[in-house]
Amino acid sequence: MTGPRSSGAVAAETGLRLVDRESKPSGTIVEVGGVRIGGRTVVVMAGPCAVESREQLLATATAVQKSGATILRGGAFKPRTSPYAFQGLKEEGLELLEWVRCETGLPIVTEVMDTRKVEEVSAHADMLQVGSRHMHSYPLLEEVGKSGMPVLLKRGMSATLDEFLFAAEYVLKQGNERVVLCERGIRSFDQSTRNTLDLNAVPILKRHTHLPVIVDPSHGTGHAWMVPFLSRAAVAVGADGLLIEVHCDPEHALSDGPQSLTPDGFDAMMQELRPVATAIGRDISARRR
Ligand code: PEP
Ligand code: MN
Repeated sequence: MTGPRSSGAVAAETGLRLVDRESKPSGTIVEVGGVRIGGRTVVVMAGPCAVESREQLLATATAVQKSGATILRGGAFKPRTSPYAFQGLKEEGLELLEWVRCETGLPIVTEVMDTRKVEEVSAHADMLQVGSRHMHSYPLLEEVGKSGMPVLLKRGMSATLDEFLFAAEYVLKQGNERVVLCERGIRSFDQSTRNTLDLNAVPILKRHTHLPVIVDPSHGTGHAWMVPFLSRAAVAVGADGLLIEVHCDPEHALSDGPQSLTPDGFDAMMQELRPVATAIGRDISARRR
């Protein structure tokens, strides 16, 4: 890759070491509550953008699990553009996530935004999400590294792939190799979608790092109707998993409704994805009866 790695003697000292594919050609499998990310199976993480209530979370979790999702997503601490927008249920959201994990057996991924909250979120979650807005927060990267928890690291919305890999390097430098990278769309001049999903990132990242790479077409497009198309493309291009927002009543969602699939829409998408995975020698968890 171009960038700091290939520019001279100083770069050789400050370049990527631990995330580099050469340091581990076989690739890393990150295990989250018994689910293996980075192997043959494409792992689908799904759930609401934000945890809103016990009923909402349980209904969504049961539905996505039935369709083949194996990890539940749901934000308890939400990074919102406006300080007046719903900020998440916070501690109560963490309790609800844990309760739903007990009910369904689904491992939980949820965002942590603040170094002071890493311990608390780790006590409730199975995987810590570092969101796009915090990919450059080096103290947070170090803290999630020290936690030893699996980390879902989302690409900063204006981050180059070098910067993204260096962010992961911060986590690994703390002795924590359990990092999954997530492409979630980048800002571009085009206003027809919320972001531009950069699927170039998948083969490039997989070529340069041993870490698993997943794709979030919900934030990558901002439109629920586009999510199935980009999910298929992500699987075809070699993603190790998908992160999908699902809401039982998207019109009334407290966050990211326009990009959230309904449970039925999610189920239909999952059925369409399986033949795509099979075509490239992979699989996706089966639907439950
Ligand atoms: C999210 O996953 O709901 C989220 C806030 O994502 P991002 O950090 O990619 O915007
Ligand atoms: Mn969201």
